[in-house]
Amino acid sequence: MGYKKPSFIENIAEKIGLIPNLHKEAYQEADKSMMQFSEKELAEMYKNFPPPEKWDNWVEYDPKVWPKKEKKTYQIVPTTCFNCESACGLTAFIDKETNEVKKFEGNPYHPASRGRNCAKGPATINQIHDTDRILYPLKRKGKRGDGEWERISWDEALDTVAARIRKALKEDRHNEIAYHVGRPGHEGFMEWVLPAWGIDGHNSHTNVCSSGARFGYNLWYGYDRPSPDHAEAKFILLISAHLESGHYFNPHAQRIIEGKMNGAKLATMDPRLSNTASMSDYWMPSYPGTEAAVMLAMALIILQKGLYNRAYLENWTNWQEFLKALHPEKEVTFDNYIQAMIETYSEFTPEYAEHESGVKAEMIKEVAVKIGEAGERFASHNWRSAGASNLGGWAVARCLHFLQVLTGSVGTKGGTSPNAWNKFHPEVPHPAKPQKKWNELHFPKEYPLAFFEMSFLLPHFLKEGRGKMDVYFTRVFNPVWTYPDGFSWMEALMDESKFGCHIALTPTWNETAFFADLVLPMGLASERHDLNSYETHGGTWIAFRQPVLREAARRNGKKVKYTYEVNPGEVWEEDEFWMELTWRIDPDGSMGIRKHVESPYRPGEKITIEEYYQYIFERVKGLPEVAKKEGLTEFAYMAKYGAFDIEKGESYKKNEHLLSKEALVGSEVDKVTGVIRKNGKEIGVMIEGKAMVGFPTPSRKNEFYSQTMVDWNWPEYSIPTYIKSHIHNEVLNKANNEYVLVPTFRLPTLIHSRSGNAKWLVEISNRNPIWMHPLDADKFGFKTGDLVKINTDIGYFIDKVWVTQSMKPGVIACSHHIGRWKREQDENGNRWAVNTVKIENNGDGQWKMRTIAGIKPYESGDKDSKRIFWKDGGVHQNITHAVHPDPISGMHTWHQRIRIEKPGKDEQYGDIFVDTNKAHEVYKEWLTMTRPAPGPGGLRRPLWFKRAFRPDESTFKITTD
Ligand code: SF4
Repeated sequence: MGYKKPSFIENIAEKIGLIPNLHKEAYQEADKSMMQFSEKELAEMYKNFPPPEKWDNWVEYDPKVWPKKEKKTYQIVPTTCFNCESACGLTAFIDKETNEVKKFEGNPYHPASRGRNCAKGPATINQIHDTDRILYPLKRKGKRGDGEWERISWDEALDTVAARIRKALKEDRHNEIAYHVGRPGHEGFMEWVLPAWGIDGHNSHTNVCSSGARFGYNLWYGYDRPSPDHAEAKFILLISAHLESGHYFNPHAQRIIEGKMNGAKLATMDPRLSNTASMSDYWMPSYPGTEAAVMLAMALIILQKGLYNRAYLENWTNWQEFLKALHPEKEVTFDNYIQAMIETYSEFTPEYAEHESGVKAEMIKEVAVKIGEAGERFASHNWRSAGASNLGGWAVARCLHFLQVLTGSVGTKGGTSPNAWNKFHPEVPHPAKPQKKWNELHFPKEYPLAFFEMSFLLPHFLKEGRGKMDVYFTRVFNPVWTYPDGFSWMEALMDESKFGCHIALTPTWNETAFFADLVLPMGLASERHDLNSYETHGGTWIAFRQPVLREAARRNGKKVKYTYEVNPGEVWEEDEFWMELTWRIDPDGSMGIRKHVESPYRPGEKITIEEYYQYIFERVKGLPEVAKKEGLTEFAYMAKYGAFDIEKGESYKKNEHLLSKEALVGSEVDKVTGVIRKNGKEIGVMIEGKAMVGFPTPSRKNEFYSQTMVDWNWPEYSIPTYIKSHIHNEVLNKANNEYVLVPTFRLPTLIHSRSGNAKWLVEISNRNPIWMHPLDADKFGFKTGDLVKINTDIGYFIDKVWVTQSMKPGVIACSHHIGRWKREQDENGNRWAVNTVKIENNGDGQWKMRTIAGIKPYESGDKDSKRIFWKDGGVHQNITHAVHPDPISGMHTWHQRIRIEKPGKDEQYGDIFVDTNKAHEVYKEWLTMTRPAPGPGGLRRPLWFKRAFRPDESTFKITTD
């Protein structure tokens, strides 16, 4: 971003004072790039942001009254954005006259975002001033889903829910209580709360999001996410659009660009010419689901050309195990290992990969060589996209990590580290022991390797009578809209024998909250506390999301006991909600629950939010010393700056850390494998005569060969493999106009179903047409704007066509986020984005939805609501998708085999039809692909596998009582 010279007209206008002379500002005079960010340049950049000593009294001109020059005085308080998982830093500018938040800017003290945000960060201001937001606790009147509500007090809400939970716990119905979360936030908080209740009650959205990729990474090295060091890389390979909208979007995007500015080359594998692909040196438009074939071809080239890192492969992969298991005829030598890999992958020629993927063989060869040459400085990332979309999608991450292993770029500077090396884990006060319950509604026997809860199958499990949900919380979670098969969710949620009490914790209305019993308003990003830490780069940091008006009040000497005192209406924050609820479940402490939410500083009394975070911050490496230098408590330091850098660039090669003498006392070394064990558990491995920590796998190395896969009945996948997807070209009936629909791509401006309350964002993006290449459009005679009927396994939706060369021929795509709806009887919410629909059900699982009104201007306290110019709110596609659980990772595989046709005469834009009986049949069909537990030793799951909210080890064994 270089300095842009003022035009002739600008020059004149500035000189005669018609417009302010912006060009005299120092930061705009800089003619060198601002993107390289040396320490010195960062210091320069900070200069252009109000310095912290002025944050309580910052004066600047009010842009709204320009060209008049009116000064405004602000108090500036840091917090973090909640509009995606990155948790970038924000600073709230609070008007000192009105005590109102006027805008959000970046926080330069945040180590990941470094003062910058995407469009969604500043749009937090829209969300907090949303005129449709929910301000008071509500209880349903009439039947669930009828749309009638009455206001109740928080006391009534809390006491009702607490009593119901208490009763369930006392009757040993622990597995009927669940907290189902979409976007989590607070690191460690629910791990503190739910085990305190003794329940295995966590359910997440992860199996519709990232568990495919997580599984692939986990098999290799026991960590389930990558942390690429883009800024230091020489070559970057992205599966899908990470630069514009993928995981850790803004922090990654700025570092990818930094890497490029420093000479790195970028390749992107994506059937769509995304913004990321357009910025890449190599766009590899692969046919969906064939990515693993391309990567195995690249692996073969690296092996054949000798571009692999011999020392790394020899020390840090379990090659001896591989040879012994799969090539007993060969002598166990390293050269035989290389030879065996070359033989194993010999069919993956660039030409075969081209045949599968459509990516030119020449490009595959060129990229493979570049990756090999980058060596330890090869960074890559796969998150949702291919890993989340294909039967066997987990194999994409596994094959991608194979390239990391071959180049020895695992955990190196400019390479890709395990996430846990760049992530902080808090110590919480009075932690509970792991629960002694295993909830089979979340982790059923059919999916013993599922990387997270099988949450999207819940309606089907309930339909089969596997159990019920008596107390069911949804939080930042909207399965009726976001999940596949939303009508099955709607049917289940309306049935009180399946969901006894549904409590929606939400700041704003959504399609799932319409089917709740209690709707409890929760604070937005700047109205709640959270701790954040993510693996955005080579380093470890924490950030503090805080209610900015509460912090401003604290600085101004006003006492605030609870966050709701400063929030609008009666909006609570979630941390205080869970603390209060936990206390009320066990008011006298007799159930052993209350003690977990007692103050660590005032025995027997209820913990406060400051105490909870002060306890954590006191235990952050380096923070007490830094805070002390400023004469602040750890809490006050975090409240002041909003973030803290724990480790800067010291996070590499942690597998080589030496085991301490104390750790080695009582340990034994396996003479054959070098694995070091203590009390029956692997704690490290001998490498070149040194006792190193290694990786958390059975071999403590990268497992090229997985005995776990063999033991759990998947021997065909014992090594990295290409698995043909459920939407592979071979299974599509082209004569019947079958195509693959890519329904997963995110827009950089929206957030799943959470951005309908942000007017600026919806103004930018409000339609989701079908992307179609001109060759495909010609085949059907479609022009841009024509209606198209997309038939799925269980129904159809009618959308419009967008003819574009940005789509790979033979593949169509439809973006996520758009097509929000409400019925006529539902409360107003998100009116910037929501269509009004009519839903009909024939009583036998056949559902129809028709849009009866699009988006229109409306009267409200926000003048912009009268200025809405867009009418089209798009089409809800996910509700027409059947569930497709991968039998191994448990991931819902999003890509759809669809049939394209022209709509009939009476069919309209936005029409939707779904048959939930068919949906249940598809669920059963996919269930037959599973290979259920028990595994070795009668286990439900391999003991070394991670599990969210891991229960006591005793629960891993299946008992027959
Ligand atoms: S990338 Fe954008 S939406 Fe995500 S946390 Fe950062 S500013 Fe917010």
